[in-house]
Parts: sequence; C-alpha cells; structure tokens
Amino acid sequence: MLRVTEIFRSIQGESTHAGRPCTFVRLTGCPMRCVWCDSEYTFTGGEHVSIESIMGQVHALGCNLVEVTGGEPLAQKQGFTLIERLCDEGYEVLIETGGYVSTEGLDARAKVILDIKCPASGEEPRNDWSNLERLRAGKDEVKFVIADENDWLYAKSVIEKYDLQARAHAVLISPAWGLINLQDLATWIAGSGLKVRMQLQLHKYIWGPEVKGV
Ligand code: SF4
Repeated sequence: MLRVTEIFRSIQGESTHAGRPCTFVRLTGCPMRCVWCDSEYTFTGGEHVSIESIMGQVHALGCNLVEVTGGEPLAQKQGFTLIERLCDEGYEVLIETGGYVSTEGLDARAKVILDIKCPASGEEPRNDWSNLERLRAGKDEVKFVIADENDWLYAKSVIEKYDLQARAHAVLISPAWGLINLQDLATWIAGSGLKVRMQLQLHKYIWGPEVKGV
C-alpha cells in the first residue's frame, strides 16, 4: 500500500519533457520543508491505495508517460516497487525527487529529475550528494529552484564543482514562483556560458499557481 494524494492526467509542466501529455501519480508526504514549497497539501492526508489499484488507475488514464512525484516519491519504500511495476508494464517513467532520499536501488529504467536544494529553500544542508554519482548522462536531469541571486551563484558553483553539464542529460534552472524577476534570471543564465536550460512551470501559467491536480 502507498499513501497517495492524487492521480491525474495533464501536461508535463517541467523538465525537458515539458508539454508532453503525462499521467501523474502524486504520493503523500515529504521529509523536507522548503520555504517556497508549492505542494504543501501533500504533507498530510492522502489515501492508502494498493499498487494494483494505482496500476489500474494509471492504465485507465491511457498515457504512456507517467511521472511519480510528491511530496517526496521515494520517501515511502513501496514507491520503489511501484516504479518497478510501471517500468515492467512498459511505461516511460519519470521520477521527480527532492534530493534528500537516496536514489540507490531505483529501477534503472526510470528517468530521474533530481532537485538540488539551494540556500533560500532552507533545506540545502539536506542534499544527498551521493545521488549525483548515480546520474546517467543520457537520461537523468537535475533541477535548481532559484529564489535570489545567491541561489543562482550557488547553483553555478555546484554545476561546475560536480561537472553536471557532462553528468546529466539536462541541467534545469527554475525560478521560485513569484520570488524572483524572470528577466534577471534569464540574463544571468544567458551570460553564464553554462549549458543549462531555464524552465518555467508550464502548468502554473496554464491553470494558475494554486490549482491542484493539473
Ligand atoms: S522537497 Fe518538494 S515537496 Fe518536499 S518540501 Fe521541498 S518542494 Fe515541497
């Protein structure tokens, strides 16, 4: 059984997969408390759902791309089993993880989108740096959410220190919603010379920042 907040079909809003139709399985609970978190509603509640039932709901939604997200999708041990089942059934599986839980043991067929928390999140000390060693250059992505210039300078230093341009399929730079001027961030990125990708959260522009289940 897994604690599940919601299962729905929408448009992938972030990463290099943005814009693709996608089924989302949003698991309940997260051990982190990022100050700008946009999914606090996943911290509690949810329903206990069997993996069979989740698979049935995913199948009924009829989309080959499935993202397992949260909350923190790897915080529940059974999350790893669900991911394996989805891969076994031939789904293209994305995992959006906050970077605190180890990705060790994760099904190698799944594609990881790994957050690296910056200082303004308040959770930077909890990054599990060993996760960077498991990145696969052909498929995994890393994401920095930037709330201010200090976060951007931090992201730059981490990208260079860990050679993330070579180790990840993509390095995503995402503005913290409502906290940073988009033109400032775009200017810093454009002038950096780094092989990174600025991304906006597509779903928030389409449906608004407060709408759940989209
Ligand atoms: S890791 Fe994600 S879900 Fe957890 S507190 Fe941070 S932003 Fe929210």
